[in-house]
Amino acid sequence: MRNFSRRFLKIFLITAVSGSALLLLFDLVFFPLPAEKLSRQSSYFIYDRDGRLLNCFASPDQFWRLPVELDSISPLLVKTVLNTEDRWFPYHPGVNPVSLLTAMVDNVESGSIARGGSTITMQIARMMEPKSRNIGGKLIEIFRALQLEMHYSKNELLEIYFNLIPYGGNIEGAGTAAYFYFGKRPYELSYSEAAILAGIPSSPNNYRPDLNPEKCRGRRDRILHQLHQQRIIDSKILTDALKEEIPTERKERPEYAPHFCQTLIADLSSEIRQGGIRSTIRMDIQALCERLTLSYANVLKDKDINNLSIVVIDNHSSELLAMVGSPDFYDKKHQGQINGSFAPRSPGSALKPFAYALGFEKGLITPASILDDIPVSYSGYSPENYDEKYNGIVTASDALIRSLNVPAVNLTADLGIQDFYEFLQTGGISTLDRKYYHYGLPLVLGACEVTLADLANLYAALGRKGIYRPLKMIMKNDIKKSYDLLSEEACYMISQILSELKRPNLKASWEFTRDLPTVAWKTGTSYGRRDAWAIGYNPHFTVAVWAGNFSGEGSPWLVGVESAAPLMFAVFNQIMQGHEHVWFEKPSGLGTRYVCAQSGLPPNDYCQDLVSDLYIMGITKNTRCDIHKAIIVDRETGYELCRACEHLGNPETVIMQDWPVRLSGWLSNHNITVKLPKHHPECTGILAHGPPQIISPEHGTHFEISENIPAEYQQILFEASSGLRNRKIYWFLDDRLFATCGINERVFYKPSKGNHTLMCVDDLGRSSTIEFIVR
Ligand SMILES: [Zn+2]
Ligand SMILES: [Zn+2]
Repeated sequence: MRNFSRRFLKIFLITAVSGSALLLLFDLVFFPLPAEKLSRQSSYFIYDRDGRLLNCFASPDQFWRLPVELDSISPLLVKTVLNTEDRWFPYHPGVNPVSLLTAMVDNVESGSIARGGSTITMQIARMMEPKSRNIGGKLIEIFRALQLEMHYSKNELLEIYFNLIPYGGNIEGAGTAAYFYFGKRPYELSYSEAAILAGIPSSPNNYRPDLNPEKCRGRRDRILHQLHQQRIIDSKILTDALKEEIPTERKERPEYAPHFCQTLIADLSSEIRQGGIRSTIRMDIQALCERLTLSYANVLKDKDINNLSIVVIDNHSSELLAMVGSPDFYDKKHQGQINGSFAPRSPGSALKPFAYALGFEKGLITPASILDDIPVSYSGYSPENYDEKYNGIVTASDALIRSLNVPAVNLTADLGIQDFYEFLQTGGISTLDRKYYHYGLPLVLGACEVTLADLANLYAALGRKGIYRPLKMIMKNDIKKSYDLLSEEACYMISQILSELKRPNLKASWEFTRDLPTVAWKTGTSYGRRDAWAIGYNPHFTVAVWAGNFSGEGSPWLVGVESAAPLMFAVFNQIMQGHEHVWFEKPSGLGTRYVCAQSGLPPNDYCQDLVSDLYIMGITKNTRCDIHKAIIVDRETGYELCRACEHLGNPETVIMQDWPVRLSGWLSNHNITVKLPKHHPECTGILAHGPPQIISPEHGTHFEISENIPAEYQQILFEASSGLRNRKIYWFLDDRLFATCGINERVFYKPSKGNHTLMCVDDLGRSSTIEFIVR
């Protein structure tokens, strides 16, 4: 007896060991597991921030597959499937000899292969490599099942099973079945729903609820009764579950945010595998934006404006809340599938606030600072205002509110074009693909391309008190780089100015609330009226709108304030409902001071007209007003007197505005200021020397340009002489400031054809003028 059992054990061990060795040999050498066939091309499911399905796209082979982890499948479904398909799954090695034997007996009796006796592992093997249902196929299936059990844990196998199992038509896996039959995630199922899903795979097209609801009900009820018999569910659950309706229609595929979702898939497809993508979109705001865009598009259609895009950002988190790429995704005529939020377009004036912010930040200017608004030329580039008029001098705040071009260009020249360019890059403007000098100063007027998404996110940094964060589009716990782009003080100054802009009058139907939120906002209109922009922000949100045509066609109505701003405000007013109307608090580093109203600088003893202004403590420059001066004049003739000639008249002190030479001529010619009096003609002091004399070129010279020589070698020399020392002179070419330099400095001019007037002015406002011709 003992001997016998020992012998038996020995045979058993030899068989087991050699069997395992054989299996291993086959596994490694002859039939390695085709593991790649266990995962298939995924379809894409994109959810909003709260887990509601926004949109989904079939896999490239047109199947609906949503890979899910075992943890996110309802335990109810797992239990039901195990109970229905393979009760001994946790214990067997891939094959269940008892059920195989039973099945074989059944098959012999019925004369065909009716029942498989398949375990879940064997079913996986069959889905991995579909084989014909004969003995050979069955043997391979058994071998593969043993192999699968060697490679994977029981839980891993269950997960594979639930992701491969067919649920009828092109629906594969429990993740998509739960959605298309019940509109649910696979962890939200009821008993009835779990039973339906457990029942479908054995004959998918037979038991599909949408095709054969009655067969489906019969199958479900049998499964539920079985669960009850095995005491997995009690009578109460059984009765309730049996009463549940069978869904008779497949759920529609939702189509929110089509542009956004497609962009996400294109950009992130490699990152997305398990369970779909949880985006940052807020379903309610997205739906609102889509609705408003569509109805507003109807208003613009008559004005030859066919495309509109919106981006909404949560300023606190930098999360994208809504994105509309075009009014109608399916409008082929107007290229509706283009996502306008990511299309590079010319921003017009929309970048200007950032030049002012930098000017504040660096202490160069304050809101009350005076900026030049006179004709000027930067190596041949002469900016003009929108209305082609000049104001002489304007405050920074006024220049920004009125979106004047000339002061913005002058300011950018003071900042340095490279600094401004680098600021935009640091602020996430990703489309500046050329070097800064290719753009030059026109950059600040929008002579470049930006995307609505980048622009909106740059404005969001103003709403975040200067902290930059990349736009976040999917919910994940990654720590993205964030950094100080601007100081809180500079942002506050800009926000104050931009909130003073008068809103456009919205049609009554667009005004959703009387209690309008305070919004800092700016518009932009590109050259040729091809693009209209409006971007608004407050501490909560940034809303950016672009209007135009993807074809690039312009329209006379494509003006930011007219065609983009109404939609921006419509969205803003609506999304602010339920939010407290808070505004930015004045930062502690920001002071209030009185400045001279004419110069914008802290007053000297002669300034009379003072205004309140903001300044950054310790940073804003502190030089006093140098415009207001006490001048001694002759009471009778009005001539200016100095120490050398005081005795020649009857001296009297008057307070006058003495503007820098570059401005004084223009200002007095346009009656903005009074001309300073002439010096006493009989004075023998230093001021008595005459005006600077132009030595080169000579008056009346004709220059011939040769086409064969590079222009660099044909430059014209500007040179002047003056009796004064250590003074500056100003060259005005054709009434535009061309250069400022020391008296003995030489200036070169790359000639352009035509008749030219050249004026040389010294510090004292004395000038001489010549003319020359270039052919
Ligand atoms: Zn003053
Ligand atoms: Zn004098």
